[in-house]
Amino acid sequence: MMAIKRNVYLAQWSPKTPSMPYVYLPYSVGCIWAYADTQKEITDNYQLKDIFFLTKDPIDVINDMDNPYVFGISCYVWNWNYNLEVIRLLKQKYPQCYVIAGGPHIPNDDPYFFRKYPNIDATIHQEGELAFTDLLKCQIGLMSIDDTHGISYPSESNDVIRMSGSNRIPDLSVLPSPYLSGLFDGMMAMYKDDPDIIINGIIETNRGCPYRCTFCDWGGITYNKLKKINLERVFAEIDWFSENEFDLVLGVDANFGILYDRDMEIAEYLVKKRNENGYPNYFDTSWAKNNSTKTLSIAKVLADGNMLKSFMISIQTTNETTLSAIERKSMEVSDFNNLNTRAKKLNVPIATEIILGLPCETYLSWKIGLVDLLLHDVNVSINPLVLLPNAEMFEDEYRKRYGIETANINSWTNHNIKEYNETVIGTNSMSVIELKRTWAFTWFIIGLELHGFTKFIAKYLNKQWGISHSRFYDEIINLSKSEESVLHKHYQRLQEHTNNHNFHLLVSFSGYKDLVKDVGVSHRNDFYHEMKSFIKFLVPSMPTDEISGLVKFQEMSLLRFNEEYPISGDFNYNFKEFLTDDETHISKTHHYKFTGNEQTDTQSIIKWSEYIIGTRLIRGWENNIE
Ligand code: SF4
Repeated sequence: MMAIKRNVYLAQWSPKTPSMPYVYLPYSVGCIWAYADTQKEITDNYQLKDIFFLTKDPIDVINDMDNPYVFGISCYVWNWNYNLEVIRLLKQKYPQCYVIAGGPHIPNDDPYFFRKYPNIDATIHQEGELAFTDLLKCQIGLMSIDDTHGISYPSESNDVIRMSGSNRIPDLSVLPSPYLSGLFDGMMAMYKDDPDIIINGIIETNRGCPYRCTFCDWGGITYNKLKKINLERVFAEIDWFSENEFDLVLGVDANFGILYDRDMEIAEYLVKKRNENGYPNYFDTSWAKNNSTKTLSIAKVLADGNMLKSFMISIQTTNETTLSAIERKSMEVSDFNNLNTRAKKLNVPIATEIILGLPCETYLSWKIGLVDLLLHDVNVSINPLVLLPNAEMFEDEYRKRYGIETANINSWTNHNIKEYNETVIGTNSMSVIELKRTWAFTWFIIGLELHGFTKFIAKYLNKQWGISHSRFYDEIINLSKSEESVLHKHYQRLQEHTNNHNFHLLVSFSGYKDLVKDVGVSHRNDFYHEMKSFIKFLVPSMPTDEISGLVKFQEMSLLRFNEEYPISGDFNYNFKEFLTDDETHISKTHHYKFTGNEQTDTQSIIKWSEYIIGTRLIRGWENNIE
């Protein structure tokens, strides 16, 4: 007689924003089950009933379960509270269900964890494949919990019992691929024709990170040794993504390019598949920060194959003292401007990320660094600093050393369940008030410069009239304080958000929507009219025809909503050449033709604004100029 198998459910909720259809396959829990499924003791006794990855009303998750015996959840900053709500409801209906929580959000050493979260029965620290299988075996008496490693479970009084040792898997070749084992085939079939869901793939070619950045929960003692996934599996997974017509494959290595020869082979294989089959369209990843010449050559292969949206080298800060404080000094990121120049020469779309709120950063060091990046035409993304439970920065000693002050700020929302991140609101080098002021400067400069609204004006005034970007945007903030200004309501909103430390919201996609809609479409004429008197105020001696020509050039360079392109205009100066070539001097009149760009056909103001924000790292706002 066949034994009745116990039902297993797994969940790894994809991050998703309401306006975007993109979601990610639940790769981590997929790996966990793909491995468990190779073990006869498991397949004889358990069956996987479902993997959840799209959030819905938590009660519907429970209603979709049939007598769950084990529920395994992957936890991170965007789904922690949602997970807690799901398991609260789960335990109400199925109190005997054994709940296992893993993922980067599970703290390695919180002695009160099970008192705070009594609905969780066991936690897995770091890699989950072997530990999850062991816990399933323990549940049916095939293994003693004393023989497990790297897991925690509660004592009768809900103290943490932590099993020593590590879960680091010595040989990753024992792990089957969840893609190749067919685990996701049903999901792919179910959402293939759903216009509201575009599923992105995740590929892992190695595990571990040799660095120990203090804000990160990835590197560190346990994970610092790099382990490779064999290339045959990597190539076969790329074949699978190609056959299944994936738009984007996200590489989740910590430092793609660190294994140069191998990673070059992977890049070449991705391009080969795209050329053969048209898919995957794009490959995105976290790039290695060292050996930038070599890494750039890999990015070049992807860029030439039209697979690279952005060669994102995350420098996090340009301030040397901060680099030491966060233990990134060895990464050779300080010469980013040089890399930027080389990448541009090779037509590789380069970008960077920086974090606001890091230790030792001051208002001035941040401002100098940010302005310098923008002056070098670097496309930059800003993130607020968040303390992650397994990062060194989370520890009391580190917080005290750098005077880190935090607040719990809502930064994600899943079906009305708010997720909170412990966000840095001040340090001993930047007070709470100074950090708010820095955010205000940052928001304005990103909002107006990176979406193209004032980029040419600021650059021209700097090159021709010596007005620094720093002063230009400081004065714009002053201008926005006036009730008459087009920017005033954005200033007010900014004040409200900075007062509540809503930094995530400020730099999110939606944080710029109103500004882009207003300045780019609804009040565009008023804004550029205001710019003329603003320039006159900044440079009283600048001739009026020069001001008018500059503002006209700026406005016409920026993609218009609902415009019939091409458009053209006569200009009293050679603005384009002057602004794009350091050697060219301002001279003679010029006629320019503005031919739009491939996205001139936007259907609504909202879509237009979304396009401008979504493509700012590749200057989607910019018209072609002849
Ligand atoms: S931030 Fe990147 S390089 Fe630094 S420890 Fe984390 S994964 Fe490694």
